[in-house]
Amino acid sequence: MNTELLTKIKTPVPFLDLAAQDGGLRDEVLLAFENITDSSHYVLGPYVESFERAFAEAVGTRHCIGVNSGTSALHLALIAAGVSDGDEVITVPMTFVATAWAIRYVNARPVFVDIDPETYTMDVDQIESRITPRTKAILPVHLYGQSADMTAIMEIADRHGLTVVEDAAQAHGAMFDGKPVGSFGQSACFSFYPGKNLGAYGEAGAVVTNNDAVAGRIRALRNHAQNQRYHHQELGFNYRMDAFQGAVLGIKLRRLGVWTKQRQRLADSYQMFLEDLPIVLPQQGDRRSHVWHVYVALHPERDQIREALQRQGIQTGLHYPVPLHLLEAFRELGYREGDFPVAERVGNECFSLPMFPNLSRGHLNDIAEALTAWFE
Ligand SMILES: *Cc1c(COP(=O)(O)O)cnc(C)c1O
Repeated sequence: MNTELLTKIKTPVPFLDLAAQDGGLRDEVLLAFENITDSSHYVLGPYVESFERAFAEAVGTRHCIGVNSGTSALHLALIAAGVSDGDEVITVPMTFVATAWAIRYVNARPVFVDIDPETYTMDVDQIESRITPRTKAILPVHLYGQSADMTAIMEIADRHGLTVVEDAAQAHGAMFDGKPVGSFGQSACFSFYPGKNLGAYGEAGAVVTNNDAVAGRIRALRNHAQNQRYHHQELGFNYRMDAFQGAVLGIKLRRLGVWTKQRQRLADSYQMFLEDLPIVLPQQGDRRSHVWHVYVALHPERDQIREALQRQGIQTGLHYPVPLHLLEAFRELGYREGDFPVAERVGNECFSLPMFPNLSRGHLNDIAEALTAWFE
């Protein structure tokens, strides 16, 4: 560790700086908030509807239903896919825990397959060996901003009569074979948690789909399962999107393309600066356009690396240190250490470098210098 570096600490480098991104939106957002307050239409309403139309168009689907979180989106998408008691849903152990919560909410069982060592998304060669008569759906995750192999997944699902629900919570605008993620499966779920590539000023999410019946059912379910006031068809939920969130998302969606390009340029710079270091850098898989929700590198001594960076004011993250099959909450599933070696390696060795559209060149240089110094 080069101690000389410690003496030339510059400004701290945050892992994520949302304020920098939002500065240019202030006037537009405040005007929308004023309109909402004047109209007293705080839940759903015109801002949510207009965002739903714009987001469906961006993804290339017929419908978008705004809800109050990505987790709620997954829950409703699985209900609408007909997943219920005793069914199995094939997914990955390297993801945010909400992917598997949703499967448990409908009393189904998450069946994990390992991730591919290059893209860290579902290893499609392992799917078929996990299909049983109880398998109902495949739930791939477009992890870290990169699409799973949707051609292979759709082909396997079609062959076995399974429904595909995409977890696109980390991949707004990512593509596979030139097609946006979210437009492959029966439905796809997005999160607009503030730290996501498209983030609200609070909690929000959405389901997109081309299926009219699925869209209608989810639209009813999010609002206490009523198509008509006080006529409830089934067990419903209060999963509605706030008007404020719809307004912010509509305003931010117009900038998403520019922000994605900024992320892609930062990823190119990381690649250029770090490629000679003995760390595993993230790769963009074949036929994919990556939107770099997070920039995840691997090294066996990641805890020491993170501490060294922290001492220089550089914040890093972990996505995700404990694969789902080893979580206490899923102990009943009966998995053990060693079951999914690629996911476990990522869990043990991952560290996420700062990645957000306004990350400055200067900060990126500081990060590269600090990492290079650590290896010297
Ligand atoms: C963020 C996230 C979710 C959950 O979204 P919330 O809006 O936080 O409920 C689900 N899946 C993945 C992969 C995520 O990253």
